Amino acid sequence: MFNLDSPEVQFAIDVVRLAARLAQKIRNEMGKIAISKIDRSPVTVADFTVQALIAYFLKKKFPNDPLVGEEDSDVLMKSGDETVLARILEYMQLYIPQVDLTQVFDLIDIGKGEPANRYWTLDPIDGTKGFIRGQQYAVGLALIVDGKIEIGVIGCPNLKEAKYDDIGGIGSLVFAVRGAGAWYSALNQVEEKHLLKVSDRIKLEEAVLLRSLEDSHTNSEKTEQLMQSAGITNPPILMDSLAKYVLLAAGRGDIFIRFVPRSNPDYAEKIWDHAASVLMVEEAGGKVTDIEGKALDFTAGRTLCRNKGILVTNQHFHEEILNLLKQI
Ligand code: AMP
Ligand code: MG
Repeated sequence: MFNLDSPEVQFAIDVVRLAARLAQKIRNEMGKIAISKIDRSPVTVADFTVQALIAYFLKKKFPNDPLVGEEDSDVLMKSGDETVLARILEYMQLYIPQVDLTQVFDLIDIGKGEPANRYWTLDPIDGTKGFIRGQQYAVGLALIVDGKIEIGVIGCPNLKEAKYDDIGGIGSLVFAVRGAGAWYSALNQVEEKHLLKVSDRIKLEEAVLLRSLEDSHTNSEKTEQLMQSAGITNPPILMDSLAKYVLLAAGRGDIFIRFVPRSNPDYAEKIWDHAASVLMVEEAGGKVTDIEGKALDFTAGRTLCRNKGILVTNQHFHEEILNLLKQI
């Protein structure tokens, strides 16, 4: 449906690259100031600024496309944090000189859109806890048409060449277009791009697992049981954010699994946390389903409420892991 030169692809690449570099600038200049949401998860100046800015550019370019974004201006208004408000306005004015706070709130709330036949979904800062710690985080944007992810772009300011988990370097921009592959380029140099391909490891005991740093986002006990029954002894790569999917698409790791969190059994995964990266892994030759083997359903609304957890593999390990999961 889209090719690498489509206006939608160019838009998504440009806007994510700009947002990822802005997020890094905010992190460098402001450090780790955050406010708390109702569920006590943190949110920062970068989360709100990136969402407002991407919404602004989206409405200019594709005014009829809804945006389903993570953030909401209520949190910001209720926080009454003058420093945070002033800094968001300051960063927005770098791009829209006359903008005021009311307009910034309205821009953020463009993200309250609902899934439609064609819509975009945005995680302005995925891995906010990683952002605050100075580790991995990502900006993720995807275009979904008729329930199918068509374009996914992920900016990882702290990820070096898509496959190195050490922090630093110039950052990575990864993009995928259905039927046209998954590609990596350096954040500051998108002209040069390289095709991403998952690993060809086939022996389960040699697999490398990617894991979240936050126990509350998954069920670590089950992850450990799975590693044990699979005979995986390689140390897992511990990492925040969508960057885990990027490493898998680049062949550095082979398996990433999100169990339903033990502390929050009703938690439904959010579409913006996965859309861009699901397409990227599939285009790189990997496979993504929920932990029961069902395809992820992006037509159910803002969450993946018809699915249970998520399983991402290099394809070769998928069936074996699903079978082991039935026994856990
Ligand atoms: P990770 O970086 O893999 O630890 O996961 C980050 C993602 O976890 C974020 O995108 C959040 O949307 C998601 N998240 C935040 N709070 C929770 C929670 N209580 N349970 C499960 N996932 C969560
Ligand atoms: Mg997120």
